[in-house]
This record gives sequence, C-alpha cells and structure tokens, in this order.
Amino acid sequence: MPDVVLEACPDYELGHCRTALEAALEPLGGLDWVQPGMRIGIKANLVSAMAPEAAATTHPALLTALTVLLKERGASVVIGDSPGGLYNAAHLDRVYRICGLEQAEAAGAELNRDFGQKAGTFPEGKVLHSFQYTAWLDGCDAILNFCKLKTHGMMGMSAAVKNFFGTIPGTMKPEYHFRFPDAMDFARMLVDLQLYWKPRLHLVDAVVAMEGNGPTAGTPHPLGLILASESPFALDEVCAGLLGLEPDRVLTQAAARERDLIPERLEIQGSPDRFRPASFQLPPTRSTLFRSLLPGKAGEALGRTIQKLLAPRPQVAPQECVGCQKCANICPAKAIEMVQGKPKIHRDKCITCFCCQEFCPKGAMEVQRPPIARLLNKET
Ligand code: SF4
Ligand code: SF4
Repeated sequence: MPDVVLEACPDYELGHCRTALEAALEPLGGLDWVQPGMRIGIKANLVSAMAPEAAATTHPALLTALTVLLKERGASVVIGDSPGGLYNAAHLDRVYRICGLEQAEAAGAELNRDFGQKAGTFPEGKVLHSFQYTAWLDGCDAILNFCKLKTHGMMGMSAAVKNFFGTIPGTMKPEYHFRFPDAMDFARMLVDLQLYWKPRLHLVDAVVAMEGNGPTAGTPHPLGLILASESPFALDEVCAGLLGLEPDRVLTQAAARERDLIPERLEIQGSPDRFRPASFQLPPTRSTLFRSLLPGKAGEALGRTIQKLLAPRPQVAPQECVGCQKCANICPAKAIEMVQGKPKIHRDKCITCFCCQEFCPKGAMEVQRPPIARLLNKET
C-alpha cells in the first residue's frame, strides 16, 4: 500500500470531486472498512467564516462528494471544526453558511451542533498530557481528517497535522498558545493531538491551495490535486516537498521527525512533479538549526534566544489596517496595544503565535523576517 496518493482533481465540480476521491482512496483500500450504521466524523478545516473561493477552508464540494460516498455505504456523516472565537451555534452556523457547507448538508451530512467540551488525558504525549477538546468527536466510530493545503505563519505550512488544532475549543486556543509559547513545543503538541486522535484517513484539498500570507490572508493558487494517506506525517512530508518547503522548516514535520514518525523512504503513488507549482509564495520560516547545534540545557537556552531574535514576526501594514482591534483582542500574550487607532506590538511580550495574523480580517498583519535575519542569511 502506498504511503501517500496524489490524484488530479481539476476543479470543484461535484462529479470531478467524486471521481478524484474514489481514485485517491482506491490504492488505500477504498472505503471498504465503512460498515452500515457507522457514524463517521469529518474534521474539516473551517478556520474562519470565509467563502470557499478564498481557499482558506476545505471546499464544500469535496466534503459533499465524500459525504455521498460514505452515505452510499450506509454510514451517517457529521462534519465539524472549532475555528477561533466562540464555540457555539450562533458562530458556527455563520461559519457553516459562509463556508458553503449547506451543500454537504443537503447531501445528508449533519453539521456538528454539539458544542460540548471534555477533558482528555494523554500520558504518552510528549508535551500534551491533559487538554480540553470538542466533544462531538467522541460520538464518531471513525474520524477522517479533510484539511486544506496552505502556508502558515507560525508552522510554515498548514495541512494534515496542523488541522487537528481545531479539536481544541476555539475560545481555549489562545490559552494553548500561551501554554506552549515555544514554536517547537507548539508543534510537538500538534503531533500529540494527532497521535491521540488517530484519524482513520487523511485527505488534503489542494485543488486550490493558499500561498503567501496564509492561513487566512493568502492568495488562492490552483494545484488541481487531492492527496490521501493513512499517515498525517507522510502526507505533510509530501505536501511540504510539493510546495518547495524544506520539510524541517515545517515545524510539525520537525517535531514528527524527532519521534521517527516519518519513514525515510516514502512510497508515493502519483507524480509530485506533475503537480509541482512553477512558483509558490512561501512564508518566512523558522530555523531549527541553532537548537541542534548547541547541546545541553545551557546551549538549548542560548539556542532559543538566538532563534527568537531571528524568528519571523508579525508586522502591521498600516495602509491595510482599519483599526478594528481584533488582533489586540485575540492576542494571547496581550502584546498588542492600540495606539492612535493602529496596533502596536510589544516585542518583549510577543510569543510569535501569529493569532493576530490569522484573524486579521483585512490581511493587514503580515509575517516578516526581522532585519537582522535578513542581513545574516535569508534562510535563517
Ligand atoms: S485585526 Fe487587522 S485590521 Fe484590525 S486592527 Fe489588527 S491589524 Fe488592523
Ligand atoms: S502580537 Fe500576534 S504573534 Fe505576538 S503574541 Fe500577540 S497574537 Fe501572537
């Protein structure tokens, strides 16, 4: 069985989506494991109330096609996510509507309206041993991860692994950024979440990916592709390579590699070269170089300091900013002060979580490399 399957999907026409999904799943054994009466949860990426054309969320046509395939096998389907902000019916109904999920609902999917939360424990986790999660997932016999391929200010890339941060209730997400202020620890936490939930299958919507200022303010970039795998780590490895990101610059991949979760040789069905974009605008990424060069606790502390100095950071584009204050309200570190109607970032407090960038409605918060890093080497 291949580790990762790549399958062409030229657009979001429903018939094309169905054909592409069937072809992508077939080498992985198809959906033969689905039994009548099973309840299948699809964890989509619904990061924000944004229209499908913005390429920030899993496209509703793919979710609809998958719903139809699962229902034909006698399963019931529930689609859910917990975007940033309130985790309640009023907010999620708006997200579902604007993200176009009524199409999937019309095909028989239930859009999750169980907004309960539960406490989970994961003693085997590397950094995440206890956490709160969205309870709707408990009611599912199997979970499918259907993510979107995007650039990401903090992690470098958002695909299969990052998508499960949406199992943490939206209102609690800032707390998790504060609990794991070091970007690598945050990445380790995301890997723990994957290992806790063990989704049955992972699918990536890269029919139209997002480049540039992702995960919400970037530019749609058609790749005409969906990917499938049983391993989120193998899948993200292929996605990173496709976009031209060195895998260790994607912090979740660096965290997965620490635990030998990525096979040295991946068996890939389908040609990445066929889908590789001629150019793709990547975000500035962090280097893990200094940490590995400096052994011991003191060396690690020094490495962290150097990394912090060189790490990409948020920067306001004043001409785009409308002074709505959303960034200041969402900042978990309270590092943003509104001064004369514009956000001022206190660098000493900033933990570079990029929540401000992710939730700025105008794309006015950009990820930039500090001048010292640009001077030293554009890759540090
Ligand atoms: S969220 Fe964006 S538009 Fe609103 S104040 Fe912050 S930077 Fe400006
Ligand atoms: S200023 Fe932005 S990146 Fe820095 S801590 Fe606040 S939300 Fe995170």
